[in-house]
Amino acid sequence: MQLDWLLQPLLTQLNTGVLVLDAQYRVVFFNQFIARRADVDLAKVQGNLLEDVFADLPLAWLRRKLDSVLHLQVPAFSSWEQRQYIIKLAHLRPLSSDSQYMAQNCSMLPLTAPDGVSRYICLLIEDATDAYVYQQQLQQSVIQLEHANRTDGLTGVYNRRYWQQQLGYEIQRAGRYQHPLSLLLFDLDKFKDLNDQYGHQGGDFVLVELSRLIGSLLRDTDLFGRYGGEEFGIILPETGMTGALQVANRICDTVARHKMLYNQQTLKATISIGVACYFAQSVDELIQRADTALYCAKRQGRNRAVAYQPELEGYLKKVK
Ligand code: GH3
Ligand code: MG
Ligand code: MG
Repeated sequence: MQLDWLLQPLLTQLNTGVLVLDAQYRVVFFNQFIARRADVDLAKVQGNLLEDVFADLPLAWLRRKLDSVLHLQVPAFSSWEQRQYIIKLAHLRPLSSDSQYMAQNCSMLPLTAPDGVSRYICLLIEDATDAYVYQQQLQQSVIQLEHANRTDGLTGVYNRRYWQQQLGYEIQRAGRYQHPLSLLLFDLDKFKDLNDQYGHQGGDFVLVELSRLIGSLLRDTDLFGRYGGEEFGIILPETGMTGALQVANRICDTVARHKMLYNQQTLKATISIGVACYFAQSVDELIQRADTALYCAKRQGRNRAVAYQPELEGYLKKVK
C-alpha cells in the first residue's frame, strides 16, 4: 500500500519535531515543526552536517548519544529536566518564560533503510515549555513560601520561631567549636506612650523604621529576629562580651539619635538592651540571662545596654 498521501500531511501537521540524520549525522529530513521554529529551509540545507544547520548544539554530548543509538541500535532519550533543549527552537506560544527557547523532550530512534544496510537516526522533539515554565513558577513559589515562613510580616526581620531555632543551631556550633557567641535582647522604651500619642499605626511605623535602621548596623552573619511585640533579639556569632557590648552601645546611640518623620511629625525613640554571652547554657538559659540584663537596663533608667553578670540576679531579687 502506498502511504505517501498519509505520511506527507501527517509529518507536516504533526505537533512534534521530526529530524532524520544519516550515519554521518547529515541532515536528511526535518518537518514543518522544526523548519518554522528554527527558520531553516530543508531544500537549502539537506545533506549538510547537523552542526552546520543548527547553531550552538551541545555537540560532544549529542555525538555520544547519537553514536550509542547508531552502534547499539537502541533508542535514547533526553528530557528537558536533564538538558533544557538540544536544538535552539523558538517556542511560538505567548508564555512568560525566562528562556526564549523551547524546552524539549527528545527521543532518538535507530532506523534502517529498506536496503537493510543504510542506517539513520530519527529525532522526535516534543515541546515541554509548559512543564518547564510551571516548574519554574513552582520553584519561585517555594522560595517565596520559605521566605514568608521565617519572616515577621510587619518588620521583615526573622520571626520568633525561626530566630529561636537559629539560636539553637548557633549554640550547638559555638559549643562544638568553642567559639564565642553573644545574644542581645532589646525592648523599646515607653512604647505604650508612643502608641498612645501617635496611634497603633504610628507605633508600627516606628517598629518598621527601627528594624531597618538596626538591621543596617549588623553583619550579614548576625541573626536579627522579633521576639514578640516590641521586643527583638540579635544573635552575634563569633562575638564575645566586649564586641557584643560595643555593638549594643552603637545600636543604642544610633537609635536615640535617629529622627523619624511620621505624618509631618518628627518622632524619636530609645531602646534598652540586655547582653549575654554563651557559656554552655541552653537556649532558654541564655535568653533568660539577656532578659535579666534587659530588665536591669530598664531599672537603671532605659536607653542603655547592660551586660549580664551573675550579680544582677541578686540585684533583681532586691528590687522585686
Ligand atoms: P518599657 O520601657 O518598660 O518597655 O515601657 P513600654 O511602654 O514599652 O512597656 P511594655 O514593653 O510593657 O509595652 C509594650 C507595648 O508595645 C504594649 C503594646 O501595646 C505595644 N505593642 C506590642 N506589639 C506591638 C505592635 O506590633 N505594634 C504596636 N504599634 N504596638 C505594639
Ligand atoms: Mg517596651
Ligand atoms: Mg515589651
